[in-house]
Amino acid sequence: MENNYTVLARKYRSQDFESLIGQDVLVKTLTTAINTGRIAHAYIFTGIRGTGKTSTARILAKALNCLSSDHATSKPCGVCENCRAIAAGQHIDVMEIDAASHTGVDNMREILDAALYRPTNARYKVYIIDEVHMLSTSAFNALLKTLEEPPAHVIFILATTEIRKVPVTILSRCQRFDLARVPVETLKKHFAWVAEQEKIELSDGANDLLARAADGSVRDGLSLLDQAIAQTGGHVDEGAVLDMLKRTDRGTVVNFMKIVLSGDVNAALNKLDEIYNNGADLTMLLNDMMEWTHWATRMYPSLRLQDATSSPYTADQRETIKKINENISLNTLSRIWQVMVAAVSELQMSTNQKQCFDMLIVRLMHIADMPSIPELLKQNTNNTQKEEIKKETPKSDYLEIKTSEELVNALQNARELLLYSYYTNNLEIVNFEPQKIKYFDRKGDKDFSQKLTIWLKDKTNQNWTIERIDEAPHQQTISEQTKSEIESDPMVADAMNLFEGAEIVNISK
Ligand SMILES: [Zn+2]
Repeated sequence: MENNYTVLARKYRSQDFESLIGQDVLVKTLTTAINTGRIAHAYIFTGIRGTGKTSTARILAKALNCLSSDHATSKPCGVCENCRAIAAGQHIDVMEIDAASHTGVDNMREILDAALYRPTNARYKVYIIDEVHMLSTSAFNALLKTLEEPPAHVIFILATTEIRKVPVTILSRCQRFDLARVPVETLKKHFAWVAEQEKIELSDGANDLLARAADGSVRDGLSLLDQAIAQTGGHVDEGAVLDMLKRTDRGTVVNFMKIVLSGDVNAALNKLDEIYNNGADLTMLLNDMMEWTHWATRMYPSLRLQDATSSPYTADQRETIKKINENISLNTLSRIWQVMVAAVSELQMSTNQKQCFDMLIVRLMHIADMPSIPELLKQNTNNTQKEEIKKETPKSDYLEIKTSEELVNALQNARELLLYSYYTNNLEIVNFEPQKIKYFDRKGDKDFSQKLTIWLKDKTNQNWTIERIDEAPHQQTISEQTKSEIESDPMVADAMNLFEGAEIVNISK
């Protein structure tokens, strides 16, 4: 970058109250107070970074000291000696102190001792203390003493991003102003204006992305614009900004959510790989997916919020979301949201974000697939009703076993675990009819057939013929059959692919 390049945030820093971006309430209150001569001895400005706290502090310092008027004015001229020196941060009577590097009590005492002397060139001595919450307790106490009995010519302007860390005793001595997060539309208007001044092409789509990424901060947004200009040589379009932010465009996110909620694990994980390989930041992607969930919920028909048009999506994308909403319950959307919220910190702590994200997708698909709690409760009541009907029909005390599968279930239900595991793991069943079983026994335990015959007689009140053949028919055992059935299930197959080298070691029914 050229040496004489001034970053946009500094170049377009607001110089007067009218040009402060998105702080209308503050401007109105503060200018009225100045115009009516009600000047406080201490102000505190709070708000997220980049909303104009120090800019406002400097404008206020100019307003108090501008030479164009013989008293404080809400319209500082910007050209007199005082205005220019303050704007440049070089006025001898306007001290800007960064509390982060002056946390100690000695620093604060030194500063406060100097406050006793009258200003040299200005009407007021102004102390702007930035990030004031960083001061130590003893430094705060020293400051409090001065605030309790401030010299008539001294004005304190405190700024902080963390108002809760400022002692109440200090707050009670200050006039407080909350700087609002600057709305997206206001930021867009400002960035468009800056682009015009800089003779830069800034597409509306790119501007929208920048304004949303700025998250209410003028300075952050302008820094991003700086970066985008440097990377594109002045033709800032949506693609360039997406690249820069490592963002995936909304169309892709909408499409991705559609795939995730369709239940096709393979397609979803493939799409995720594609997005990831295109350089997307996964934290941002999760952010975008949360944005999707938030808007899908707001657009849910039964809520009748009718604010779909204020969503960041195009008409086509909104149509897609509407269609997805037809197949998903509000409850599911809210559970998807909960899982995503939990994933935010998981993702931050994870040493392998991609793995973490794969798992998140599988989890989301499960939620989309699962019946909601009210549905589950309903099913449960149905089951209970069925059971009650069953109980009414008279039932013999003996079991009826007609197939090998029924035998397996019966053994399991009766907790005959030895018989059950021997039967399912070692036998190749050649033939099974009521009261007649023919099998090959891989292990060859001669007692087994006798034990099974006794058990069957006992449970079915029938005599069973159990025949063991000597030649192996080379069939699968029941365990082997179950395992291959499960492995061929597409959902399980996907999970197996996901966990490389995974194998099914146990199947619980
Ligand atoms: Zn002036």
